Amino acid sequence: MAAQTPTRMPALFVGHGNPMNAIEDNAFHRAWRDVARRIPKPQSVLCISAHWETDGVRATAAEKPETIHDFYGFPRELSEFVYPAPGAPTLARDVRSLVRSARVELDTQRGLDHGCWSVLCAMYPDAEVPVVQLSLDATQLPRFHYRLGQELAPLRERGVLILGSGDIVHNLRLFRFGPSAPFDWALRFNDEVKRRIASGDHASLVAYEDLGPDAELAAPTPEHYLPLLCVLGVRGEGERAEFFADEVSSSVSMTSFLLAGN
Ligand code: ZN
Repeated sequence: MAAQTPTRMPALFVGHGNPMNAIEDNAFHRAWRDVARRIPKPQSVLCISAHWETDGVRATAAEKPETIHDFYGFPRELSEFVYPAPGAPTLARDVRSLVRSARVELDTQRGLDHGCWSVLCAMYPDAEVPVVQLSLDATQLPRFHYRLGQELAPLRERGVLILGSGDIVHNLRLFRFGPSAPFDWALRFNDEVKRRIASGDHASLVAYEDLGPDAELAAPTPEHYLPLLCVLGVRGEGERAEFFADEVSSSVSMTSFLLAGN
């Protein structure tokens, strides 16, 4: 008997951390691989990554999006890595029709950045699942990005995996490479955000800038935090968040969670 089509795809928020997670056989790479194995195979992925900020909202619409290497100082194996997932221009057009709070521009030139492919190459190493990326609008407030998620939620009923890729705590200025104990404020903010995700307190997470000095240190710039708000926006009523790959290293959090479809 054919497997029943799920009525709602899960949605994911992933703390992507270091680009090396793409090619290292480490706990994060394995966690991303494993989560993909236990959720239904999506028809396509819509990824909102911290690494694409634009004036207005854009969606990739290339048939074959290129792999963007938007980092420096990493080994050749990473800077020449290619993730050849096809694009999904039809999905990009669906996104444009669904989003009411902005006019979504389709971008046939833009490829996939490392926030997107470093995670997807672990989840779908054969690159067989088509991918569209949606940009963050650098001119808009956090609540706009939450609203964007709400408008995208119907895609989950159409076999689309919505993947937010950022970091709940992301302060590169204070980051120390190598095995580093997490900063107290980083742990506190990560725990605070997790608690509010678990209890469904989205309003305070949208207004995260009011959460005090820990928030200022954890998200000194908004781009790694905003994909979280897009994912919370697609959350169904009463849908549980299951945390995985939950770790804070120095000033970056790898905390990731799955919203399970029901
Ligand atoms: Zn990043």
